[in-house]
Amino acid sequence: GRDITERKQYQDAQEKASRDKTAFISTISHELRTPLNGIVGLSRMLLETPLNDEQRGYMRTVHVSAITLGNIFNDIIDMDKSDRRRLELMPKPLDFNEFITEMENISNLMAEQKGLRFDLERLTKLPAFIEVDSTRLRQVLWNLIGNATKFTKEGGVILSVSSEIFEHEAEITFDVEDSGIGIPASEVDKIFAMYYQVKQGSDNLHAVGTGIGLAVSRQLVQLMGGDILVTSDIGEGSTFTVTIRVPLAEAVVEEEI
Ligand code: ADP
Repeated sequence: GRDITERKQYQDAQEKASRDKTAFISTISHELRTPLNGIVGLSRMLLETPLNDEQRGYMRTVHVSAITLGNIFNDIIDMDKSDRRRLELMPKPLDFNEFITEMENISNLMAEQKGLRFDLERLTKLPAFIEVDSTRLRQVLWNLIGNATKFTKEGGVILSVSSEIFEHEAEITFDVEDSGIGIPASEVDKIFAMYYQVKQGSDNLHAVGTGIGLAVSRQLVQLMGGDILVTSDIGEGSTFTVTIRVPLAEAVVEEEI
């Protein structure tokens, strides 16, 4: 009896310590986000001012690095929640074309920084306004485009967007295609598991990252009424396909601050 009680107490203490640690990390990540948003915003503004090539190169790196760091914070903040299925969406009307243009601008910067091409393809007419949690959708697409550039050494990344519009809702498909290292067939199902990273021999691309992004992204996309699928060929590249089903919106209501 006593052994079992002690073991139980030990387990409880371990679990509490682990919860405390996660809560601490989440709080710190939240705190760090505010100054980080300052860096993201102001470096973007600086990029819009006249700079010489050298200055532009440095500022681009500052901007993209800050965005990447922000993504890592998001993943860490969500890590705890996705374990417990507590991720929540806050859908609001979104100007979808403006959103796509923003994705295009940031993806261009990410790709340029690694000497890769980036192309955006609008394959069909897209709905003007949709009802979606844009912060979360942005998080998912940045994760995928970030991975696509991270795991690609030559060539580039293509984001294609298409939609099927129904009376009250739209099914939107985003394809993120890269010409990178690819994912072994035996690993394709595993990469969506929390903390999972494909083991690679000599290159240390995988040393960068947390293995959290895809796990959280898939949960978020499922909450948006869709899923993420992947097809990949080793040495040829990978395509991640995100489908979401969201209500159409009338227009964006300007929020009062
Ligand atoms: P992270 O990128 O932080 O390691 P993710 O959850 O985003 O975590 O991805 C998990 C793993 O899936 C990566 O470590 C990598 O092994 C593999 N992976 C994801 N995207 C790609 C891609 N576009 N090309 C090749 N491998 C990928």
